[in-house]
Amino acid sequence: MTEGTAPSGNLVQTAGELSAIVRLVRRDGKRIGFVPTMGALHDGHLSLVRASLDECDYTVVSIYINPSQFGAGEDLQQYPRTLDADREAVQACGADLVFAPSSEEVYPPGYATWVEVGSVAEPLEGECRPGHFRGVATVVLKLLNMVAPDVAYFGQKDYQQALVVRRMVEDLNVPVAIRVCPIVREPDGLAMSSRNRYLSPQAREQAAVLWQSLCLAGRLVEQGQRDAEAIAEQVRRLILSAGPARIDYVALADPETLRPVARVEGTTVLALAVRIEGTRLIDNCLLHPPDAS
Ligand code: AMP
Repeated sequence: MTEGTAPSGNLVQTAGELSAIVRLVRRDGKRIGFVPTMGALHDGHLSLVRASLDECDYTVVSIYINPSQFGAGEDLQQYPRTLDADREAVQACGADLVFAPSSEEVYPPGYATWVEVGSVAEPLEGECRPGHFRGVATVVLKLLNMVAPDVAYFGQKDYQQALVVRRMVEDLNVPVAIRVCPIVREPDGLAMSSRNRYLSPQAREQAAVLWQSLCLAGRLVEQGQRDAEAIAEQVRRLILSAGPARIDYVALADPETLRPVARVEGTTVLALAVRIEGTRLIDNCLLHPPDAS
């Protein structure tokens, strides 16, 4: 690093190195954007990087597979690790810094502090993956403290996660603006996900039914259906008609509180989690009844 200038295209692995760089960037009056990821980057992640490049002067991307957000029996060991390709993709996009800490760096011996977010973290993913959001909130807060960005970018793909992060940032007075960016999809509608690479060609084809089921729900609402259970039932039926799958949930809920709704009278989130061949996929969309204010 040349004395006094903020470096570009770098990989840093410790919080110490990171904060030395961030201090220089800040001293130059630059606005810092931050994109937290677990790597195995795809165009969904890169859309967040582009949003940061548009709005900020210096973009930091973290790549860290956070063990504390995985439950026992989940895919922590199997999760794809592709740091070299990720660095290249981030650099090609024009981001400034990749922060890829080790777990010893994030959770050193004696680590004992956890962030618990309340009600919005409880249903849906919170119910299916106990402890998941405790791990997410804790690592996101730690990363926000380390990077100290002006703006942090999340995807609507993880709808509940974005709500949990917003709640935490507000409740704990974290001085950062949170942006939530649209879901990037494959040509057949499947939401891009690092986990899609687990799917066999047949399961990959079958997985397009998730998007088809979201579209079906949108059409039902457009045609006047307001009964949430009737919509959920048709969504479940379509998903199961495409092949063997295990549905963790199909939920219609208030888009802010995630409390279940009985009727789709205002903007409603439809969220689903489905296992195909053992791969757990999540997706969601907002339903807007045409006559809602
Ligand atoms: P992950 O690496 O899965 O933890 O995701 C890192 C960030 O990328 C999260 O904020 C995700 O919501 C976001 N993300 C993942 N997939 C997509 C997608 N298909 N479109 C937009 N954002 C996404």
